[in-house]
Amino acid sequence: MTATRLDGKTVSAAVVTRLQARLHEQGIVPRLVFVRVGEDPASAYYVRSKERMGRRVGIDSVTHVLPASASQTQVESLVRSLSADPAVDGILVQLPLPAGLDPRPVIDLIDPAKDVDGLHPVNVGRLWSGQDALVPATPLGLTALLDHYEVPIAGRHVVVVGRSNLVGRPAAALFQRRDATVTMAHSRTTDLAAMTRQADILVAAVGRARLIDASMVKPGAAVLDVGMTREQDGIVGDVDPTVAEVAGWLTPMPGGTGLMTVAMVIESTVTAAIRRRGTTR
Ligand code: NAP
Repeated sequence: MTATRLDGKTVSAAVVTRLQARLHEQGIVPRLVFVRVGEDPASAYYVRSKERMGRRVGIDSVTHVLPASASQTQVESLVRSLSADPAVDGILVQLPLPAGLDPRPVIDLIDPAKDVDGLHPVNVGRLWSGQDALVPATPLGLTALLDHYEVPIAGRHVVVVGRSNLVGRPAAALFQRRDATVTMAHSRTTDLAAMTRQADILVAAVGRARLIDASMVKPGAAVLDVGMTREQDGIVGDVDPTVAEVAGWLTPMPGGTGLMTVAMVIESTVTAAIRRRGTTR
């Protein structure tokens, strides 16, 4: 078997077109503000990608860059003022923050209605309790990919490897909300392979290059590769390329889940802007 490619490029382009139409219909220009601290090249790259896609959709975005030497108080007062600013629709604090800064109190200061990364405890609680929420972008991108390729989710067994607040946990919540049966695995899971072989949909969100090999995948499963490890020849996923011989569907790396993450941040900004304005046109 050669797996069908779950192509993030195709699906994110479709999202851009849909969002352009939605903003045109609403007649609004949302404002998204990024907060970046320090000069981490990966963070700068991710923010630029989101700004670029936002511009294509019709979002006005601004990035505040604070020096790596910024204090906790400086970062917190910037986020506090953005939360209070009625002109701002979305706030995204690019993580990780430099060593010595604690992200949790910073995230807690984001107005939940503007929290386009879905990390504020109010949004986390709303997601797990089945209410409308702003949801972290990477998990949203996973379900959007599966929906586009008409891979069924309800009733399927989803195994999520990784339990971070940014990816694994919200992915588990989102799949459960879509009526999947969800198992979460992590670094203390005994016999990971026995677990992953049960998955109809396997999410690998660990950050260990090629952790998932073909022997760990059920034939015909949908495999979503989130992990990204930088190696000499480029970015490598958590999923070994030989999995394509066994899986029914597979995300490429790069060109899969990463592009969808960018698209879903932009979608959440549009959603936040429409909700904040109370427009339903
Ligand atoms: P993280 O906070 O480091 O979490 C990694 C998770 O993997 C933890 O829950 C950890 O378990 C688990 N883990 C570690 N070793 C394991 C093993 N041998 N077997 C099973 N589980 C193991 O990372 P993250 O923020 O979730 O990111 C995960 C990866 O996704 C990274 O490579 C990151 O760069 C990438 N990422 C990609 C996108 C995208 O758009 N594609 C977006 C965000 C992140 P414990 O909880 O027990 O420690």
